[in-house]
Amino acid sequence: MREVQKVSHFSDYLKPSQIVYDLKAKDKVGAVGELLDILAKKKLITNKKLILTRLIDRERLETTALGDSIAVPHARVDTGGEIAIAVGRSEKGIDFDSLDKKKVHLIILIVWNPSIPGLFNHLFAGLARFLRKPEFRQRSFEAKDKTDLYKVLSEIELRLPQEDRIISCAGLLKKLQEMEMRKRKATKKQKRALQHQTDLIREELDSSLISRFDRLMERYGFAVADVVDGACQGCNINLSTQMSSAIEGSNDIYICENCGKFIVASKKKKK
Ligand SMILES: [Zn+2]
Repeated sequence: MREVQKVSHFSDYLKPSQIVYDLKAKDKVGAVGELLDILAKKKLITNKKLILTRLIDRERLETTALGDSIAVPHARVDTGGEIAIAVGRSEKGIDFDSLDKKKVHLIILIVWNPSIPGLFNHLFAGLARFLRKPEFRQRSFEAKDKTDLYKVLSEIELRLPQEDRIISCAGLLKKLQEMEMRKRKATKKQKRALQHQTDLIREELDSSLISRFDRLMERYGFAVADVVDGACQGCNINLSTQMSSAIEGSNDIYICENCGKFIVASKKKKK
């Protein structure tokens, strides 16, 4: 007998009642609060205040705006259940400190239980892959009511992340490296503050990613290298044209086939 692989969908975790079609809030904190109110009302969360703090802490670390008017605020907090999701749409748009400076029109808020660490990565990879498609984004922005928006979001399939690239967390991993390096020269007090932030990042990233990161840090003193003019700065070897053009301008993490370090797009502009 052939085994049928079960594909899970975003809608396994989202009901139409968890969607706010027209957010009243005008700023980031207000919008996150409004979505948490929905989750509290549906009894999907109990500790709104704590969760709000965690979500805002996470935003301060690095914006969760993915660009193209979409943000995915998230936090790992024990919710009692496994995962709680709420979606909000804003006609006017909300400032989320997005790197592309665009206002956010679609907010997907995710709170998940620390006891199931893999779930978020699984969910986020599927979500990010889907939200990158311009036609999908367009349809979600154009949805004419809550039911319509729910229908569009229901199409999202959740899959395990591909092995050759890790989606949408290059910025976060790079930040982790910077902080780990700063820790080496920091005073006790500075170390404590840095520790708090590195813990937040470590909680979010996949454990296999983190253990590879730690191994590289120990061995070479750094784990993440920029790609500049098509070459890995960790080993100065040119990447394949295909790989270097995939990396350019993306927030995904790849692995250098030559030196095995994580490689990410350089933020510096080419001369
Ligand atoms: Zn390399």
